[in-house]
Amino acid sequence: MDFTKDEIKEQIVRIKDQIAVAEQKAGRTAGSVALLAVSKFHPTQSVLDALSCGQTLFGENRVQEAKAKFTEVREKGFTPTLHIIGSLQRNKIKDAVKIADCIESVDRIEVLQDIEKYCVAQQKTIQVLFEFHTGEESKSGFATYEDLMAAVTLCANGALPHIVPAGFMTMAPFTQDETIVRGAFAKMRQTAEKVRNEFPQLPLTTLSMGMSGDYLWAIAEGSTEVRIGTAIFGERNYTQA
Ligand SMILES: *Cc1c(COP(=O)(O)O)cnc(C)c1O
Repeated sequence: MDFTKDEIKEQIVRIKDQIAVAEQKAGRTAGSVALLAVSKFHPTQSVLDALSCGQTLFGENRVQEAKAKFTEVREKGFTPTLHIIGSLQRNKIKDAVKIADCIESVDRIEVLQDIEKYCVAQQKTIQVLFEFHTGEESKSGFATYEDLMAAVTLCANGALPHIVPAGFMTMAPFTQDETIVRGAFAKMRQTAEKVRNEFPQLPLTTLSMGMSGDYLWAIAEGSTEVRIGTAIFGERNYTQA
């Protein structure tokens, strides 16, 4: 069920409080963790409701759905920031570049090259995050440090001038086991640190990790952006899609 406007407001306030507490507990700077509201499978109205509560950063994982929804939202005069967080088929990259401010789910070199190509055509620059595979269940993301390095190296070499390499994204395994989940986040953080040491000139500052069920652990492990859907908007109704 989609939450009402009042429920969405209540949830955003509650989650922001929890983020602030987690930042403090982890010795992190106040405000260092961004809240990305994942509106996939929720209607345009839910996005408008969140916008009216001051939420400006949104995530969607399917390009066609995002395009329809956020075109409508922008036509109403709002200026949300939109991140694409789902694995990209190559025939969707053109539209993804058109509508998004950041593509968080870069998991193959060909995707990077296509993004660059469409940025050239559309005369725009775009941020990307490199998705790294840390969990067993999910198949997406660069599988090894070497694969990840190969992709970041392309950016560092100046081969992709319309792409801003802004950091990393991962999904933890779907389990309630704190040790396993935190282990995945820690692996992401350590891998990010290694890559940053190789390329200190790149702005690889974002660590996008943590969802409704595990964002407090992610913040403890160094997340700078949590991607939260269910806890803000309610359960997704997949049958209406
Ligand atoms: C759907 C999704 C989320 C949000 O998941 P919730 O459990 O609903 O908070 C976060 N990240 C990605 C990549 C997603 O696809």
